[in-house]
Amino acid sequence: MVFRGLPVSRGIALGGVFVYAPFKAKVGEQYIGAEEKAEHNSRFNEALKKAGMELRELQKKMAGEDPDKAGIFEAHEDILTDVALIDEILNLINDESYAGDFAIETVYEKYVKIFADMDDDILKERRADFRDVKDRILRIWTGAEQKNLSELDSPMIIFAHDLLPSDTATLNRKNVLALVTEIGGNTSHSAIIARSYEIPALLGIAGVMASARPGMEAVVDALDGDLVLEPSGEEKARYKQKQADYQRSVEETRKFRSVEPVMADGTPIGVYLNIGSVGDGELEAQAYTGGVGLFRSEFLFMQGKDLPGENQQFQVYKKAVEAYGARQVILRTLDIGGDKTIESMDLPEEDNPFLGCRALRLCFQRTDVFKTQLRAALRASAFGNLALMFPMVGSLEDIHKAKYYLEECRRELKSEGIPFNKDMNVGVMIEIPALAVMAELVAREVDFASIGTNDLCQYLMAVDRLNPSVAAYYQSYHPAMFRLIHQVSRAFEKAGKALSICGEMGGDPLAVMAFIGMGIGKFSMAASNVAAVKRIITRLTMDKARELAGKLQRMTTAPQIEDFLKTEMDKLLA
Ligand code: PEP
Ligand code: MG
Repeated sequence: MVFRGLPVSRGIALGGVFVYAPFKAKVGEQYIGAEEKAEHNSRFNEALKKAGMELRELQKKMAGEDPDKAGIFEAHEDILTDVALIDEILNLINDESYAGDFAIETVYEKYVKIFADMDDDILKERRADFRDVKDRILRIWTGAEQKNLSELDSPMIIFAHDLLPSDTATLNRKNVLALVTEIGGNTSHSAIIARSYEIPALLGIAGVMASARPGMEAVVDALDGDLVLEPSGEEKARYKQKQADYQRSVEETRKFRSVEPVMADGTPIGVYLNIGSVGDGELEAQAYTGGVGLFRSEFLFMQGKDLPGENQQFQVYKKAVEAYGARQVILRTLDIGGDKTIESMDLPEEDNPFLGCRALRLCFQRTDVFKTQLRAALRASAFGNLALMFPMVGSLEDIHKAKYYLEECRRELKSEGIPFNKDMNVGVMIEIPALAVMAELVAREVDFASIGTNDLCQYLMAVDRLNPSVAAYYQSYHPAMFRLIHQVSRAFEKAGKALSICGEMGGDPLAVMAFIGMGIGKFSMAASNVAAVKRIITRLTMDKARELAGKLQRMTTAPQIEDFLKTEMDKLLA
């Protein structure tokens, strides 16, 4: 069986299928007769015992890897063994004739509601833990298998309808050969994580979950976009060969990873890194990059059921700046919303989340969360070269408002005698077209800006960046993209302010050639793109780059631009 998908993270994988379908309990109102009560009592007790075993197992497993996660499961065990709660469930079964699963659902949901109504934000968030424990007991009740990405203990190909950023953020990358999903696009966060972990990924294969079965073998060709389920011996041999060829070409390019990003005529270019955490893998890349051009701080908020506190955030940001010494680390404030939700905040459902209360807009509603992050960032600024960047800025009022909260935090820290860098650079992401159009006004207000091409393309082309059925309209090489970015570059050059590109186009060697010709000299990208971008930089001269940018201005369609840049790159690399 062969399927076609969108290859969003390059590579080839062969291996066993792991079907990831998180358990969702469906419990209806149901009552039982007197003769069934004994059975429901013992089934409930059995489920409690099994759930306890699972939780202790998880604690043991996590204790060595991540003590914070072990703590979560310990707290879950406390909830599970709460005597009052167990009594309430048994009373409903024995006195009110509730079916066991209906009794579990009723009692747990009662506590979820009690916590949800609390004023204290920390206590409020405990409701997620009650839901989690409830789902565990109900899953065992129904006899369904335990599934969790962090529990994969051998390398497999993961199949899922969709992967939430919180799923991908907690997965153990050593055991993931490839990702296959039914939805998602090139700039969805599962794609971004897959690229930064260098895991081959094919997204947007509608209906694939109906065909994928545990125990099957699969081949993921995330170079050409093919998925083969139950490959024949001949197919396996062919793909193994293709995998080996690809691996060789990756090794060849990788030689460029550590070279200085200097053009053939001696012009230096900045090659920076996009990171989502400060794990060893991410920080390893500091050896061959000039700094961090985009630290997506939201991943830190997705890993637990509680919001990270000021101290916890401070430690993470401090670790990043210390790893980079004098080199700059640009921390982007929380960008939640769109395809990124977090369990630790109760966000309203929206019909159009990408056009909704996302990122800075959400921070303006939850100024407590925003200010906690700003305080943590300011404190970390005392330990290195930290810069702060606001996402989803659409107007000058947004900039003024964000700066107002930052100033408030500066005043607070000053009065508390806590040190921070009072000259910390402050910038914005240019990803809403309105801001790009008035770039010269923006340049006056900020120390720097970075163009987020992922969202800029989504909003400029009016295409949902996650919807595979309109992926063909998501044209990053659209002439309007290059024209607009050129315009922004001119405005920032005139104002003498720094400008970089940190969306996926910033790691695309084809686009980078054109952007250099437009006067942009700093690019931030996933670690996996560094070698290829450096390679093209070392082959290019400024004269050639300007010539390309000039020719490109006269082109009229995305395919024309892409073909042109490909031909030019092939010539340079020949
Ligand atoms: C972008 O929009 O280009 C960007 C870098 O931000 P994100 O992909 O995290 O939305
Ligand atoms: Mg963005």
